[in-house]
Amino acid sequence: MRGSKLFPRRPGWCAVLAALVIELSLCAQPAVADDAGSTWLHCGGLWDGRGGKATGPAYIEIRGDRIVTVRSASDGAAPASAVDLSALTCLPGLIDSHTHVLLQGDITADDYDAQLLKQSPEYRTILATVNAKRILSWGFTTIRDIETEGAGYADVDVKKAIERGIIPGPRMQVATRAMDVTGAYPLHGYAPAVVVPKGVQEVDGPVGARRAVREQIYHGADWIKVYSDRSYQVMPNGVLDDIPTFTLEELRAVVDEAHRQRHKVASHAMALQGVHNSVEAGVDSIEHGNYIADEDLRTMVQKGIWYVPTIYVGEYVAEGRAAAGAPVWKQMGEIHEKTFRRALKAGVKIAFGTDIGGFDWHINPAREFALMVKWGMTPEQALRAATVGGAELLGWSDRLGTVEPGKLADIVAVAGNPLEDITRLEHVRFVMKAGAVQDVATP
Ligand SMILES: [Zn+2]
Repeated sequence: MRGSKLFPRRPGWCAVLAALVIELSLCAQPAVADDAGSTWLHCGGLWDGRGGKATGPAYIEIRGDRIVTVRSASDGAAPASAVDLSALTCLPGLIDSHTHVLLQGDITADDYDAQLLKQSPEYRTILATVNAKRILSWGFTTIRDIETEGAGYADVDVKKAIERGIIPGPRMQVATRAMDVTGAYPLHGYAPAVVVPKGVQEVDGPVGARRAVREQIYHGADWIKVYSDRSYQVMPNGVLDDIPTFTLEELRAVVDEAHRQRHKVASHAMALQGVHNSVEAGVDSIEHGNYIADEDLRTMVQKGIWYVPTIYVGEYVAEGRAAAGAPVWKQMGEIHEKTFRRALKAGVKIAFGTDIGGFDWHINPAREFALMVKWGMTPEQALRAATVGGAELLGWSDRLGTVEPGKLADIVAVAGNPLEDITRLEHVRFVMKAGAVQDVATP
């Protein structure tokens, strides 16, 4: 376990901090180990992620970073040292499978360019450490951070600093630089003689693709991220069309090289051709997927390819991008909703991912839950997408996603029953990561 089992701050210090820092409104009580070295949580209710409804009061025993016992409160009294969460419902730590800790929102090209041109990677990394702390305080104990947007391999360092207990933050899988073909990815529009940074590694040809995968894995990438399409337009038949970036041959080279090295591939694919090429090439997840043809949904089910829909960010950027001359962004929401509903019906595996960093880091990404429910999921399905589903996508089902003996002690708690009111997840009141109690923020 990282740090002490004792909550690291004294209550007096906690109150002073809470008065000074608006975001710190609730400091959890100390988690005290009993004589056997166990920490106990007394939960008013429990949704353990193993299927079924939330149960009544339960006790969870934690030793080190692992859960060792989960039992109903009716099977005996609470140990005297138990952390009192009797007014709350406990659930597995949340997983956001699409984040950008190195990005601070980019509604327009100017927003994006300013970050790459006027902020050093070092400054952006400092901001990333604050973002990591913030998302953990909202109950996201694990994230898949899916490219640095021009900040090189800084995500590997953020991940390392968290793993070593130097800074607080969620457990991370990272994608480093991402890839797109020459000329496709910002920065755009500068004079040919002006050398500007790029938000991705530019890669061309199957040989170049394999080389880039090798480089990125060598420097610490857990995932390979590709941008498979760009330049969107709605066709008269309502289909969202795009310009595919990589050829199928290039995408196949990326996927083959990554899989040979036991790494997975996430594909930014928002429309017809980008999605089609990605699923044909056998990527592991489709990011955004505003439009996916029925045929491709079937292939996704067959191949077990995940869909990470990122609904909220589409709403967030639509108005600003339309005002900046791209009205298609305002048409995408409706198309996206229809796709989401078709994917749900087709039985495609859906993981919770928000694209935070594509929107402001002061906005709690848990608002994505309510949108998933609005578009047809049950609250339990939405919750599973952010727990059991996320764990499977990350290849960590053996250690995350449920509250049960043997799993890492990533546990959050909310007031009331989130299966009745999914917006409860926007107000997480208790966060434990790997057995250590964390600071909690209010929205
Ligand atoms: Zn993204």
